[in-house]
Amino acid sequence: MTAPLDVLVVGAGPTGLALAAQLCAFGVRFRIVDRSLDRVHESRALAIQPRTLEALAGFGVTDELVARGNPAMQLRMHLPRRVVRVRLFDIGLSDTAYPFLLFLSQAETESVLAGHLAGRGVTIERGTELVRMEVEDSYGVCRMRRGDGTEETVEARYVVGCDGAHSTVRAEAGIGFEGYAYPQTFLLADLEVDGLEPDAVHTYMTGNGMLFFFPLGSPATWRMLAMLPPDAPDREVTLPLLQEITGRYTDNGLVLRDPAWMTDFRLHNRGAARYRVGPCFLAGDAAHIHSPAGAQGMNTGIQDALNLGWKLALVCRGVSTEGLLETYETERAPVGRVVRRFTDRAFTIGTSGNPAVRLARTQLAPRLAPLALRATALRGRVFRTASELGIHYRHSPLSMTGTRPPRHGPRAGDRLPDLPRGLQTRTASTGWHLLLAGPPHLWPDESLAPVLEGLDDLIAVHRLGEESPWPDIAHGFVRPDGHLGYVARGADLEGLGAYLAQWVRRA
Ligand SMILES: Cc1cc2nc3c(=O)[nH]c(=O)nc-3n(C[C@H](O)[C@H](O)[C@H](O)COP(=O)(O)OP(=O)(O)OC[C@H]3O[C@@H](n4cnc5c(N)ncnc54)[C@H](O)[C@@H]3O)c2cc1C
Repeated sequence: MTAPLDVLVVGAGPTGLALAAQLCAFGVRFRIVDRSLDRVHESRALAIQPRTLEALAGFGVTDELVARGNPAMQLRMHLPRRVVRVRLFDIGLSDTAYPFLLFLSQAETESVLAGHLAGRGVTIERGTELVRMEVEDSYGVCRMRRGDGTEETVEARYVVGCDGAHSTVRAEAGIGFEGYAYPQTFLLADLEVDGLEPDAVHTYMTGNGMLFFFPLGSPATWRMLAMLPPDAPDREVTLPLLQEITGRYTDNGLVLRDPAWMTDFRLHNRGAARYRVGPCFLAGDAAHIHSPAGAQGMNTGIQDALNLGWKLALVCRGVSTEGLLETYETERAPVGRVVRRFTDRAFTIGTSGNPAVRLARTQLAPRLAPLALRATALRGRVFRTASELGIHYRHSPLSMTGTRPPRHGPRAGDRLPDLPRGLQTRTASTGWHLLLAGPPHLWPDESLAPVLEGLDDLIAVHRLGEESPWPDIAHGFVRPDGHLGYVARGADLEGLGAYLAQWVRRA
């Protein structure tokens, strides 16, 4: 048995990689293992939401993700007699540096995150599988098996299951995964297509279902996703079958060739009954799975990881008490439930055979969507949910407002907006950030000393002057995941002192 670890991360998909990046930034003693010998090379998620780009910027990887991806995508909805165009860039949101849906394959996203970890000396232990887990004296005792058959027992203070939909951590911790499977079968293929205009997502909607082509780049130019029409033959997925189904949706306007990958699958909508039991936590697909409608799955997993990572780090460093860890489930389980509900609605509208829904899908939506999205403000409202910029933790015990709340501007629990532009960059380094709005002379060093005492290396102070998200004289305390923990109007820091006393142990 090796010496006890602080954190064992099980699974090196996007969720595990993001968690490892944050644990590494805080200097936590952790290991990350994955049972597969190599990264997944076929792409699953195809798009990164603005909030994920913001959240990953602190690791310095966002510029590379944007450089590798396509931030200027269009949606083309193919109707019987015309094509309707909808912009997926310029989504009408002014408080983010990333107002677009970035198209990048999951394989590339994982490659960038893995490269970041390698650059910091972190080894992803591949070919290493968690096979059993028990809890002894509040530690996770994990039995690991390597590809060569050798076994090792690892003791970890915390074990995080980032091990996907069939999570071993979830099963070993006895956590239920309730939900349902959708009845529809989907066909998926990465291939070449003759007859499609590049740099756009193409949709074909009929009364019997939907067909999508997403630009992929590698290992093929296009990702095809189609609902198998109810009267179609349910047989092995072959190129002729894909061509036949495509013909039904497109009146034989497209020619498919050179498939790199073909499969069929059914979708599920399920959620973990708990996100934590004792020393075990669940994040990403281990905690929630749903339809890919709205491109939320990978993004939600990465943000689970970034909510949990800093909390684990501060507890392991002895800066915070166990109570901080309870807020992970309080904050992230409702987000998982909303994503499952939102994707379920979108999926139902997209696939329902109900005549009214079919009419809305094939006739009304394609006509109304472009008109509605023409107005910038409305576009912003539509995209705020899907972009995940609207996620807040206002009802969390970690969110507190002083006796005098700011009259305008972000509230406790909200994400810190990037307004004025560059504010997120200034507050991207690891740790907390204390934002002081109003004339700098209001914030002499002596008034800050009691707040910073014993925490100087964890709290960075920013005197913002007039360039602040609040029009009032105000102060806000930003958590390491970019959400505001505390806000108050005025220059009296007593309330913030009380907030810190609740969550932080001073050196
Ligand atoms: C066909 C398909 C299409 C999709 N399309 C989209 C999309 O368009 N947009 C979107 O956002 N999402 C999409 N998703 C979902 C997205 O891929 C997932 O949400 C995302 O991969 C979840 O990341 P994760 O890290 O939580 O889990 P995973 O990516 O599943 O990673 C889990 C990792 O854990 C490892 N592991 C499992 N068990 C063990 C064990 N016992 N010991 C050690 N390692 C273990 C696995 O090898 C794996 O590497 C799609 C998924 C599929 C299958």
